[in-house]
Amino acid sequence: MKVLRRVYLDNSATTPIDKEVLEAMMPYFCEDFGNASSIHFFGQRARAAVDRARHQVAELINAHPAEIVFTSGGTEANNLAIRGFVEANQQYGRHIITSQIEHPAVKEVCIDLESRGYEVTYLPVCSDGIIRLEDLKEAVRNDTILVTIMAANNEIGTIQPIEQIGNFITELRQRGQKIWFHTDAVQAVGKIPIDVEQIKCDLLSISAHKMYAPKGVGALYIRRSVRIRRQNIGGHQERERRGGTENVPGIVALGKACEIAKRDLPRSYFRLKSLRDKFESQLKERIPDIVFNGSRENRLPHISNITFCGALGEGLLINLDMHGIAVSTGSACSSGRVEPSPVLLALGRSETEARESLRFSFGKFNTEEDVDYVLEILPEAVKSLRHAASLYK
Ligand SMILES: *Cc1c(COP(=O)(O)O)cnc(C)c1O
Repeated sequence: MKVLRRVYLDNSATTPIDKEVLEAMMPYFCEDFGNASSIHFFGQRARAAVDRARHQVAELINAHPAEIVFTSGGTEANNLAIRGFVEANQQYGRHIITSQIEHPAVKEVCIDLESRGYEVTYLPVCSDGIIRLEDLKEAVRNDTILVTIMAANNEIGTIQPIEQIGNFITELRQRGQKIWFHTDAVQAVGKIPIDVEQIKCDLLSISAHKMYAPKGVGALYIRRSVRIRRQNIGGHQERERRGGTENVPGIVALGKACEIAKRDLPRSYFRLKSLRDKFESQLKERIPDIVFNGSRENRLPHISNITFCGALGEGLLINLDMHGIAVSTGSACSSGRVEPSPVLLALGRSETEARESLRFSFGKFNTEEDVDYVLEILPEAVKSLRHAASLYK
Protein backbone atom coordinates (compact mmCIF):
# COMPACT_ATOMS: atom_id res chain seq x y z
CA MET A 1 0.00 0.00 0.00
CA LYS A 2 1.34 3.39 -0.95
CA VAL A 3 0.81 5.94 1.80
CA LEU A 4 -0.50 9.38 0.94
CA ARG A 5 1.73 11.17 3.36
CA ARG A 6 4.30 10.51 6.06
CA VAL A 7 3.62 12.26 9.33
CA TYR A 8 6.10 11.80 12.15
CA LEU A 9 4.46 12.35 15.53
CA ASP A 10 6.98 10.54 17.68
CA ASN A 11 9.34 13.40 18.46
CA SER A 12 9.59 12.36 22.11
CA ALA A 13 11.27 9.14 20.98
CA THR A 14 13.72 10.97 18.74
CA THR A 15 13.80 13.94 16.38
CA PRO A 16 15.14 14.46 12.87
CA ILE A 17 18.36 16.45 12.69
CA ASP A 18 18.02 20.15 11.96
CA LYS A 19 19.85 21.05 8.70
CA GLU A 20 21.60 23.90 10.52
CA VAL A 21 22.87 21.40 13.08
CA LEU A 22 24.02 18.96 10.40
CA GLU A 23 25.89 21.74 8.62
CA ALA A 24 27.64 22.76 11.83
CA MET A 25 28.86 19.24 12.58
CA MET A 26 29.95 18.22 9.05
CA PRO A 27 33.46 19.76 9.08
CA TYR A 28 34.36 17.69 12.14
CA PHE A 29 34.18 14.38 10.30
CA CYS A 30 36.70 14.81 7.46
CA GLU A 31 38.54 18.10 7.89
CA ASP A 32 38.73 19.01 11.56
CA PHE A 33 38.73 15.38 12.62
CA GLY A 34 41.40 15.71 15.29
CA ASN A 35 41.40 14.21 18.75
CA ALA A 36 40.55 17.04 21.13
CA SER A 37 43.32 15.82 23.45
CA SER A 38 46.07 16.15 20.80
CA ILE A 39 48.44 19.09 21.03
CA HIS A 40 48.85 19.76 17.28
CA PHE A 41 46.75 21.89 14.96
CA PHE A 42 44.12 19.19 14.35
CA GLY A 43 43.71 18.62 18.05
CA GLN A 44 43.39 22.34 18.72
CA ARG A 45 40.64 22.70 16.13
CA ALA A 46 38.68 19.91 17.78
CA ARG A 47 39.35 21.29 21.27
CA ALA A 48 38.14 24.76 20.25
CA ALA A 49 34.95 23.26 18.81
CA VAL A 50 34.25 21.27 21.99
CA ASP A 51 34.85 24.39 24.10
CA ARG A 52 32.49 26.41 21.93
CA ALA A 53 29.80 23.74 22.28
CA ARG A 54 30.31 23.70 26.03
CA HIS A 55 29.55 27.43 26.09
CA GLN A 56 26.45 26.96 23.93
CA VAL A 57 25.05 24.24 26.18
CA ALA A 58 25.85 26.22 29.33
CA GLU A 59 24.23 29.31 27.87
CA LEU A 60 20.90 27.57 27.23
CA ILE A 61 20.52 26.46 30.86
CA ASN A 62 22.29 29.42 32.51
CA ALA A 63 25.23 27.33 33.72
CA HIS A 64 28.98 27.92 33.66
CA PRO A 65 30.78 26.03 30.85
CA ALA A 66 32.99 24.24 33.40
CA GLU A 67 29.82 22.71 34.83
CA ILE A 68 28.99 20.85 31.60
CA VAL A 69 30.22 17.28 31.03
CA PHE A 70 29.55 15.68 27.65
CA THR A 71 28.24 12.12 27.66
CA SER A 72 26.95 9.57 25.17
CA GLY A 73 23.36 10.68 25.78
CA GLY A 74 20.61 11.06 28.32
CA THR A 75 20.95 7.56 29.68
CA GLU A 76 24.63 7.98 30.45
CA ALA A 77 24.01 11.44 31.90
CA ASN A 78 21.43 9.94 34.28
CA ASN A 79 23.73 7.05 35.20
CA LEU A 80 26.64 9.40 35.85
CA ALA A 81 24.45 11.80 37.81
CA ILE A 82 22.87 9.24 40.12
CA ARG A 83 25.46 6.49 40.41
CA GLY A 84 28.37 8.90 40.26
CA PHE A 85 26.80 11.11 42.89
CA VAL A 86 25.86 8.45 45.45
CA GLU A 87 29.22 6.73 45.13
CA ALA A 88 31.03 9.97 45.91
CA ASN A 89 28.72 10.98 48.77
CA GLN A 90 27.71 7.78 50.54
CA GLN A 91 29.37 8.94 53.75
CA TYR A 92 26.38 11.31 54.15
CA GLY A 93 23.69 8.66 53.74
CA ARG A 94 22.26 5.98 51.50
CA HIS A 95 18.69 7.07 50.92
CA ILE A 96 17.41 8.34 47.55
CA ILE A 97 14.03 9.83 46.65
CA THR A 98 12.62 9.62 43.14
CA SER A 99 9.16 9.38 41.53
CA GLN A 100 7.16 6.48 40.17
CA ILE A 101 7.10 7.93 36.66
CA GLU A 102 10.79 8.39 35.92
CA HIS A 103 12.34 7.34 32.62
CA PRO A 104 13.91 3.85 32.81
CA ALA A 105 17.35 5.51 32.71
CA VAL A 106 16.60 6.86 36.19
CA LYS A 107 14.23 4.22 37.51
CA GLU A 108 16.41 1.24 36.67
CA VAL A 109 19.51 2.90 38.09
CA CYS A 110 17.58 3.36 41.34
CA ILE A 111 16.42 -0.26 41.32
CA ASP A 112 20.00 -1.39 40.75
CA LEU A 113 21.21 0.77 43.64
CA GLU A 114 18.65 -0.89 45.91
CA SER A 115 20.51 -4.16 45.36
CA ARG A 116 23.74 -2.42 46.36
CA GLY A 117 22.72 -1.28 49.81
CA TYR A 118 20.87 1.95 48.99
CA GLU A 119 17.27 2.64 49.93
CA VAL A 120 14.94 4.31 47.46
CA THR A 121 11.55 5.98 47.98
CA TYR A 122 9.41 6.14 44.84
CA LEU A 123 6.98 9.04 45.27
CA PRO A 124 3.50 8.51 43.82
CA VAL A 125 1.92 11.05 41.47
CA CYS A 126 -1.61 12.46 41.51
CA SER A 127 -4.06 11.58 38.74
CA ASP A 128 -2.68 14.56 36.82
CA GLY A 129 0.82 13.04 36.81
CA ILE A 130 2.41 15.48 39.23
CA ILE A 131 4.05 14.67 42.56
CA ARG A 132 2.89 16.35 45.76
CA LEU A 133 5.46 18.50 47.50
CA GLU A 134 4.07 17.36 50.86
CA ASP A 135 4.87 13.75 49.92
CA LEU A 136 8.44 14.75 49.17
CA LYS A 137 8.74 16.62 52.46
CA GLU A 138 7.45 13.61 54.37
CA ALA A 139 9.79 11.24 52.54
CA VAL A 140 12.99 13.12 53.41
CA ARG A 141 15.07 11.45 56.13
CA ASN A 142 18.32 12.37 57.85
CA ASP A 143 20.18 10.02 55.54
CA THR A 144 18.55 11.20 52.29
CA ILE A 145 21.38 12.35 50.02
CA LEU A 146 19.72 12.66 46.63
CA VAL A 147 16.35 13.62 45.19
CA THR A 148 16.05 12.73 41.50
CA ILE A 149 12.84 13.91 39.88
CA MET A 150 12.38 14.53 36.18
CA ALA A 151 11.68 18.04 34.89
CA ALA A 152 9.04 16.77 32.46
CA ASN A 153 7.69 13.35 31.64
CA ASN A 154 8.41 11.72 28.28
CA GLU A 155 5.04 9.94 27.97
CA ILE A 156 2.51 12.49 29.16
CA GLY A 157 4.55 15.71 29.09
CA THR A 158 3.67 16.84 32.61
CA ILE A 159 6.07 19.27 34.22
CA GLN A 160 7.05 18.60 37.83
CA PRO A 161 7.33 21.47 40.35
CA ILE A 162 11.13 21.44 40.03
CA GLU A 163 11.57 25.02 41.21
CA GLN A 164 9.73 24.29 44.46
CA ILE A 165 11.70 21.07 44.86
CA GLY A 166 14.95 22.98 44.34
CA ASN A 167 13.93 25.61 46.88
CA PHE A 168 13.03 22.95 49.41
CA ILE A 169 16.32 21.08 48.98
CA THR A 170 18.25 24.35 49.23
CA GLU A 171 16.51 25.16 52.52
CA LEU A 172 17.39 21.74 53.90
CA ARG A 173 20.99 22.25 52.91
CA GLN A 174 21.09 25.67 54.52
CA ARG A 175 19.95 23.95 57.71
CA GLY A 176 22.92 21.60 57.44
CA GLN A 177 21.57 18.50 55.72
CA LYS A 178 23.76 16.90 53.08
CA ILE A 179 21.14 16.58 50.35
CA TRP A 180 21.26 17.35 46.62
CA PHE A 181 18.90 17.51 43.64
CA HIS A 182 19.16 15.88 40.21
CA THR A 183 16.62 16.37 37.43
CA ASP A 184 16.29 14.48 34.15
CA ALA A 185 15.49 17.41 31.86
CA VAL A 186 15.89 15.51 28.58
CA GLN A 187 12.32 16.23 27.43
CA ALA A 188 12.16 19.75 28.86
CA VAL A 189 15.37 21.35 27.57
CA GLY A 190 14.69 23.41 24.47
CA LYS A 191 10.92 23.10 24.92
CA ILE A 192 10.47 25.30 28.00
CA PRO A 193 12.93 27.70 29.64
CA ILE A 194 15.32 25.77 31.89
CA ASP A 195 17.57 27.77 34.19
CA VAL A 196 19.71 25.86 36.68
CA GLU A 197 19.97 28.89 38.97
CA GLN A 198 16.22 29.25 39.09
CA ILE A 199 15.63 25.52 39.59
CA LYS A 200 18.53 25.35 42.05
CA CYS A 201 19.32 21.84 40.87
CA ASP A 202 22.76 20.31 41.37
CA LEU A 203 22.71 17.89 38.45
CA LEU A 204 20.69 18.06 35.21
CA SER A 205 20.60 15.63 32.26
CA ILE A 206 20.34 16.56 28.57
CA SER A 207 20.13 14.47 25.40
CA ALA A 208 20.92 15.75 21.90
CA HIS A 209 18.62 13.54 19.85
CA LYS A 210 15.49 14.88 21.55
CA MET A 211 16.37 18.36 20.32
CA TYR A 212 17.15 17.95 16.61
CA ALA A 213 20.76 16.76 17.00
CA PRO A 214 22.16 13.22 16.57
CA LYS A 215 21.74 10.19 18.79
CA GLY A 216 24.57 9.11 21.05
CA VAL A 217 25.50 12.43 22.60
CA GLY A 218 24.25 14.31 25.63
CA ALA A 219 25.43 16.32 28.58
CA LEU A 220 25.29 16.41 32.34
CA TYR A 221 25.27 19.69 34.22
CA ILE A 222 27.19 19.32 37.50
CA ARG A 223 27.07 22.30 39.87
CA ARG A 224 30.57 23.46 40.75
CA SER A 225 30.53 22.41 44.38
CA VAL A 226 29.09 18.96 43.68
CA ARG A 227 31.33 15.91 43.79
CA ILE A 228 30.72 12.87 41.63
CA ARG A 229 32.72 9.69 41.03
CA ARG A 230 33.44 9.15 37.36
CA GLN A 231 31.93 6.03 35.85
CA ASN A 232 34.02 5.83 32.68
CA ILE A 233 37.59 5.14 33.69
CA GLY A 234 40.48 5.09 31.27
CA GLY A 235 40.94 8.66 30.10
CA HIS A 236 41.26 12.09 31.64
CA GLN A 237 38.72 13.83 29.42
CA GLU A 238 36.04 16.15 30.73
CA ARG A 239 38.21 17.12 33.72
CA GLU A 240 38.42 13.56 34.96
CA ARG A 241 34.66 13.29 35.11
CA ARG A 242 34.07 11.20 32.00
CA GLY A 243 36.86 9.23 30.33
CA GLY A 244 36.78 8.55 26.60
CA THR A 245 37.70 10.43 23.43
CA GLU A 246 35.10 13.11 22.86
CA ASN A 247 32.49 12.64 20.13
CA VAL A 248 33.49 15.94 18.55
CA PRO A 249 30.92 16.12 15.71
CA GLY A 250 28.17 15.04 18.09
CA ILE A 251 29.22 17.58 20.70
CA VAL A 252 29.35 20.33 18.08
CA ALA A 253 25.85 19.32 17.01
CA LEU A 254 24.52 19.41 20.56
CA GLY A 255 26.06 22.86 21.03
CA LYS A 256 24.46 24.14 17.85
CA ALA A 257 21.11 22.61 18.81
CA CYS A 258 21.27 24.43 22.15
CA GLU A 259 22.09 27.72 20.44
CA ILE A 260 19.12 27.29 18.10
CA ALA A 261 16.82 26.23 20.95
CA LYS A 262 17.70 29.36 22.89
CA ARG A 263 17.27 31.60 19.86
CA ASP A 264 13.89 30.13 18.88
CA LEU A 265 12.41 29.19 22.23
CA PRO A 266 9.36 31.42 22.75
CA ARG A 267 8.41 31.14 19.09
CA SER A 268 8.78 27.36 18.92
CA TYR A 269 6.90 26.93 22.19
CA PHE A 270 3.83 28.73 20.87
CA ARG A 271 4.01 27.03 17.51
CA LEU A 272 4.12 23.53 19.01
CA LYS A 273 1.42 24.39 21.49
CA SER A 274 -0.89 25.70 18.81
CA LEU A 275 -0.43 22.56 16.67
CA ARG A 276 -1.12 20.33 19.64
CA ASP A 277 -4.06 22.36 20.89
CA LYS A 278 -5.67 22.30 17.48
CA PHE A 279 -5.13 18.55 17.31
CA GLU A 280 -6.66 17.98 20.75
CA SER A 281 -9.67 20.25 20.37
CA GLN A 282 -10.56 18.89 16.92
CA LEU A 283 -10.08 15.32 18.06
CA LYS A 284 -12.43 15.82 20.96
CA GLU A 285 -15.10 16.96 18.52
CA ARG A 286 -14.57 14.09 16.14
CA ILE A 287 -14.09 11.09 18.45
CA PRO A 288 -16.33 10.28 21.43
CA ASP A 289 -15.03 8.63 24.61
CA ILE A 290 -11.46 9.80 24.63
CA VAL A 291 -9.52 10.87 27.70
CA PHE A 292 -6.48 13.15 27.75
CA ASN A 293 -3.85 11.93 30.20
CA GLY A 294 -1.87 14.18 32.51
CA SER A 295 -2.28 17.76 33.70
CA ARG A 296 -3.84 20.16 31.21
CA GLU A 297 -1.88 23.11 32.54
CA ASN A 298 1.55 22.03 33.72
CA ARG A 299 2.83 20.33 30.64
CA LEU A 300 5.20 20.54 27.71
CA PRO A 301 3.81 22.09 24.53
CA HIS A 302 4.42 19.11 22.25
CA ILE A 303 3.02 15.95 23.89
CA SER A 304 -0.52 14.65 23.81
CA ASN A 305 -1.31 11.35 25.50
CA ILE A 306 -4.80 10.04 24.82
CA THR A 307 -6.86 7.02 25.90
CA PHE A 308 -9.23 5.80 23.19
CA CYS A 309 -11.73 3.79 25.23
CA GLY A 310 -12.50 0.49 23.52
CA ALA A 311 -9.61 0.59 21.02
CA LEU A 312 -6.24 -1.02 21.71
CA GLY A 313 -3.28 1.34 21.35
CA GLU A 314 -1.16 -1.26 19.57
CA GLY A 315 -3.85 -1.85 16.96
CA LEU A 316 -4.31 1.85 16.44
CA LEU A 317 -0.57 2.38 16.12
CA ILE A 318 -0.34 -0.25 13.37
CA ASN A 319 -3.39 1.13 11.59
CA LEU A 320 -1.93 4.65 11.69
CA ASP A 321 1.45 3.38 10.51
CA MET A 322 -0.24 1.88 7.44
CA HIS A 323 -1.44 5.40 6.69
CA GLY A 324 2.05 6.83 7.15
CA ILE A 325 1.51 8.22 10.63
CA ALA A 326 4.12 7.40 13.28
CA VAL A 327 3.06 7.51 16.94
CA SER A 328 3.91 5.61 20.10
CA THR A 329 2.14 3.56 22.72
CA GLY A 330 4.22 5.16 25.45
CA SER A 331 7.91 5.05 26.12
CA ALA A 332 9.85 3.62 23.21
CA CYS A 333 11.62 1.39 25.68
CA SER A 334 8.49 -0.51 26.61
CA SER A 335 7.12 -0.98 23.10
CA GLY A 336 7.82 -4.43 21.76
CA ARG A 337 6.83 -5.64 25.19
CA VAL A 338 3.12 -6.03 25.92
CA GLU A 339 3.15 -4.49 29.40
CA PRO A 340 0.93 -1.44 29.84
CA SER A 341 2.72 1.85 30.50
CA PRO A 342 3.87 2.11 34.15
CA VAL A 343 3.45 5.89 33.86
CA LEU A 344 -0.26 5.61 33.04
CA LEU A 345 -0.74 3.00 35.77
CA ALA A 346 0.91 5.41 38.24
CA LEU A 347 -1.72 8.04 37.30
CA GLY A 348 -4.35 5.53 38.41
CA ARG A 349 -5.42 4.38 34.96
CA SER A 350 -6.50 0.73 34.69
CA GLU A 351 -4.42 -1.77 32.72
CA THR A 352 -7.05 -1.72 29.99
CA GLU A 353 -7.06 2.07 29.82
CA ALA A 354 -3.26 2.09 29.70
CA ARG A 355 -3.34 -0.33 26.78
CA GLU A 356 -5.87 1.86 24.98
CA SER A 357 -3.57 4.87 25.01
CA LEU A 358 -1.31 6.53 22.48
CA ARG A 359 1.29 9.28 22.67
CA PHE A 360 1.40 11.90 19.91
CA SER A 361 4.52 14.04 20.15
CA PHE A 362 4.94 17.01 17.86
CA GLY A 363 8.15 18.54 16.58
CA LYS A 364 9.23 21.74 14.91
CA PHE A 365 9.07 20.17 11.46
CA ASN A 366 5.39 19.25 11.77
CA THR A 367 2.89 21.43 9.92
CA GLU A 368 -0.81 22.30 10.06
CA GLU A 369 -1.27 19.95 7.09
CA ASP A 370 0.21 17.11 9.14
CA VAL A 371 -2.37 17.75 11.83
CA ASP A 372 -5.19 17.94 9.28
CA TYR A 373 -4.11 14.63 7.76
CA VAL A 374 -4.06 12.88 11.15
CA LEU A 375 -7.45 14.37 12.00
CA GLU A 376 -8.76 12.81 8.81
CA ILE A 377 -7.30 9.33 9.39
CA LEU A 378 -7.51 8.87 13.15
CA PRO A 379 -11.30 8.99 13.70
CA GLU A 380 -11.83 6.27 11.09
CA ALA A 381 -9.08 4.14 12.61
CA VAL A 382 -10.59 4.43 16.08
CA LYS A 383 -14.04 3.65 14.77
CA SER A 384 -12.94 0.49 12.98
CA LEU A 385 -10.93 -0.77 15.96
CA ARG A 386 -13.82 -0.14 18.31
CA HIS A 387 -16.14 -1.93 15.91
CA ALA A 388 -13.79 -4.92 15.68
CA ALA A 389 -13.45 -5.04 19.47
CA SER A 390 -17.22 -4.94 19.94
CA LEU A 391 -17.65 -7.95 17.66
CA TYR A 392 -15.63 -10.05 20.12
CA LYS A 393 -17.88 -9.18 23.03
C1 LIG B 1 15.06 9.88 25.77
C2 LIG B 1 15.12 10.10 27.23
C3 LIG B 1 16.22 9.67 27.99
C4 LIG B 1 17.36 8.87 27.40
O1 LIG B 1 18.17 9.63 26.57
P1 LIG B 1 19.09 8.88 25.48
O2 LIG B 1 19.92 9.97 24.90
O3 LIG B 1 18.15 8.25 24.51
O4 LIG B 1 19.90 7.87 26.21
C5 LIG B 1 16.22 9.95 29.34
N1 LIG B 1 15.20 10.61 29.92
C6 LIG B 1 14.14 11.04 29.23
C7 LIG B 1 13.05 11.79 29.93
C8 LIG B 1 14.05 10.80 27.86
O5 LIG B 1 12.99 11.21 27.18
